Amino acid sequence: MNLALWLQNAARVHGRRPAIGHGTAVHRDYRGFAGAATATARYLRQRGVHPGERVGIFMDNAPDYLPLLWGIWWAGAAVVPLNARLHPREADWILVDCQASLCFCDSGHAALFTERAAGACPLVTDTGFLSDPDHPTSEITPRTEDDPAWLFYTSGTTGKPKGAVLTPRNLRWMSLGYLSMVQPVRPGDCMLHPAPLSHGAGLYHLPYVLQGGVNVIPASGGLDAAEFFALVGHWRNASCFAAPTIVKRLADWARIHTPDTDGLATIIYGGAPMYLADIEAARAVIGPHFAQIYGQGESPMTITVLPGHVIEDSAHPRWRARMASVGHAQPMVELSIRSEQGEPLPAGTPGEVCVRGDVVMAGYWNQPAATARAIRDGWLHTGDIGALDAEGFLTLMDRSKDLVISGGNNIYPREVEEVLLTHPEVQEVGVIGRPDPEWGESLVAYVVPKGAVSAQDLDRLCLAHLARYKRPKQYRFVNELPKNNYGKVLKTVLREREAAQRP
Ligand code: AMP
Repeated sequence: MNLALWLQNAARVHGRRPAIGHGTAVHRDYRGFAGAATATARYLRQRGVHPGERVGIFMDNAPDYLPLLWGIWWAGAAVVPLNARLHPREADWILVDCQASLCFCDSGHAALFTERAAGACPLVTDTGFLSDPDHPTSEITPRTEDDPAWLFYTSGTTGKPKGAVLTPRNLRWMSLGYLSMVQPVRPGDCMLHPAPLSHGAGLYHLPYVLQGGVNVIPASGGLDAAEFFALVGHWRNASCFAAPTIVKRLADWARIHTPDTDGLATIIYGGAPMYLADIEAARAVIGPHFAQIYGQGESPMTITVLPGHVIEDSAHPRWRARMASVGHAQPMVELSIRSEQGEPLPAGTPGEVCVRGDVVMAGYWNQPAATARAIRDGWLHTGDIGALDAEGFLTLMDRSKDLVISGGNNIYPREVEEVLLTHPEVQEVGVIGRPDPEWGESLVAYVVPKGAVSAQDLDRLCLAHLARYKRPKQYRFVNELPKNNYGKVLKTVLREREAAQRP
């Protein structure tokens, strides 16, 4: 099945309904969207791009991003969205890795390419063809359920990125999972895109195309909290995917400006740990408008869901524990917590989170060894450590590589971070392990303070809430934490910094 069928159908059913918004303006209705996609397909065919070939998009969020993406599918090719904030050499590396036939670029990115990278494939900056649409009923190249559709390059917090191959089967189940477990979408409902379309946030546009919703690119192209709440008021029933850092920025703004949130449907958070203190603060100022998902490029947005009704059920006796979890398995996956030897573990015992089902990627592009490491006996090994409770709620501890073993005890830095973040003068925190001659490893906390706070204050706080051995041995106060393009704290960089500090 070619996913472009969804857009073709939406053009027939929803014709003149807004499909793509730019700021408060309607950029294209569904007929216009499908027409621009067919024009893209025609262009690609004329350029000799064959079904199954890869086509990159290296652009900032822009209203014609989606017509290009769907046009690539219409022509039977696979799309490779590249994060617009990558260095051109990194982008070049990805284009070589997937042997892209060509890459759509905005002029800014194309200029960077020519200055600073070799250019792995032809770059296309002139998208004038978009204004010369074919009739939206023109032919869609047939694809199978298991053909590559989207190469999702992992954010690469360690090593070189790998391209998770997502198929129509994966993306269809992902979209149906959203509609059944996160929230239903009606024609005209809105998905805002302040985060890069190239990554997890971009995948959220699919259920909205399926249901005749409107995908809106902010005029600023990114996250501006004032603009965000204005767009929510304009488009109504508006949702958005937000990494925890974005939720925090929206909540900080809302605390001061008390925006009208009537038009807000759901802020879906995920992609990195959401600390309890942060989500409670966000709910207090933004209101009952949250749901959480847990996924990864290899099983995008589909492993677990913490639905809005659970988040709002604050009378439930286990509400706090549930809020600290990432929710329960989505219906498209089987979830199993496994030991290092691959044995299933009972509830309450931490182990590696493993999943299987129709949403798990086909494999990594051209990397059979990495694929065999990630998918064993049909189970995707996520590299995340977590434990299920008796009710099936999954609490993530950490990435397995972030686990610290001190004096033979496993310490999950996340648990310590949760406690440190309850201090009113702590803005952000990243806890890592470092080699320790006595204990094997010990903890160091990198702290971004809001105001006056000392190592002694934080030590007292930890003593009041944690076992003694979990206390950081050292606090380092810094102005900011190193983050990747998606706002995730780079613990590998913190560990390198820590190693450089030692004699
Ligand atoms: P990526 O493939 O770049 O989307 O990164 C996926 C990783 O982000 C997962 O393997 C988790 O470690 C982390 N992650 C995703 N969602 C959540 C969540 N809701 N809570 C905590 N960590 C998350």
